[in-house]
Amino acid sequence: MRVMTWRGGGTFTLDRVSEPEAGADKVVVKMDSIGVCGTDVHITQGLFPSTPPKVLGHEGSGVIVEVGEGVEQQRIGERVVLNTTSHCGACSACTTWSESRCENADLTSGMFAEYAIAPSQSAVKIPDSLDLEQAALTEPASCCLSGAEMMRIDENGIGVVVGGGIMGLFTLAFLKRRGIERMVMSEPVKARRDMAKQFGADLLHDPSEGDLVEFIKDHNGGYGANIAAEAVGQPKLVAKCVEVVRPRGQILMIGVSPEESALPVDLYDLHYREVTLRGAFGRGDVFARTPSEIDQINLDGVISGKYELESVPQAIIDSGEGKGVKFVVKPNGYKF
Ligand SMILES: [Zn+2]
Ligand SMILES: [Zn+2]
Repeated sequence: MRVMTWRGGGTFTLDRVSEPEAGADKVVVKMDSIGVCGTDVHITQGLFPSTPPKVLGHEGSGVIVEVGEGVEQQRIGERVVLNTTSHCGACSACTTWSESRCENADLTSGMFAEYAIAPSQSAVKIPDSLDLEQAALTEPASCCLSGAEMMRIDENGIGVVVGGGIMGLFTLAFLKRRGIERMVMSEPVKARRDMAKQFGADLLHDPSEGDLVEFIKDHNGGYGANIAAEAVGQPKLVAKCVEVVRPRGQILMIGVSPEESALPVDLYDLHYREVTLRGAFGRGDVFARTPSEIDQINLDGVISGKYELESVPQAIIDSGEGKGVKFVVKPNGYKF
């Protein structure tokens, strides 16, 4: 089969490797779509630690074509999304943190390939109504769902998401679906603000047209927001979220701020207004139920570009330039 191997920096090679075989408790999945993630971009730019050679790609969907010993034969033909890690349910990380941090995790193979091998547990069946291309959004969506579910939902609350990329859009949708009455999207790019409406935004804020703090107060009787989520990864925008929330407000850090960055806020203000700041890194315990959650959201137009396997390097460059909302790679062709 063909795989796209990352060789360090921006260098890739398209390689032929032996056909995959499903070992015990594993499945082989013929890949339909694999999302290009900011993490893939950061790895090729040296901003996220990773050691070549390696097959990247961790947001994939496909169909089970082979099962190993111990896996039910009827799983063959099942439409699935692939979790990158399995979980034991018993270790310290599983019981005190989250199953996505399991200390005994078994990894799914890199997905920029015609086939991937995964533990049977990590191949999660998707609803019949969800198409495989959109199902490739499960992994990023699961991180947002996990984050949104960490938040306390106040009655009649107003929430704001700063940044309308894929993470901001899903965070907005899940906060709204959890019961925040009004959601605001703050985003400078018009196409992204428009997309936010589709995800449930009630109010749209363009930061080039005025300060977010004033905007929220104008729409909330002079008070700040109950929840502010930062989905860009810039410390100064996290600080803006601190400014935007009302006393006892909560901030969700979905964006990946650079390592060793400090938060430019007045700690006295955090203390005095009893503000909560919450990190949200991963898939938590929600991956398996994310496909049915995203199936409730109108995802039309979210996939903004498709690439062949040989074009992975270009897909990563285009994604890094922020050209679309989400690009997918189609290792087995555009018509699956
Ligand atoms: Zn990702
Ligand atoms: Zn575990």
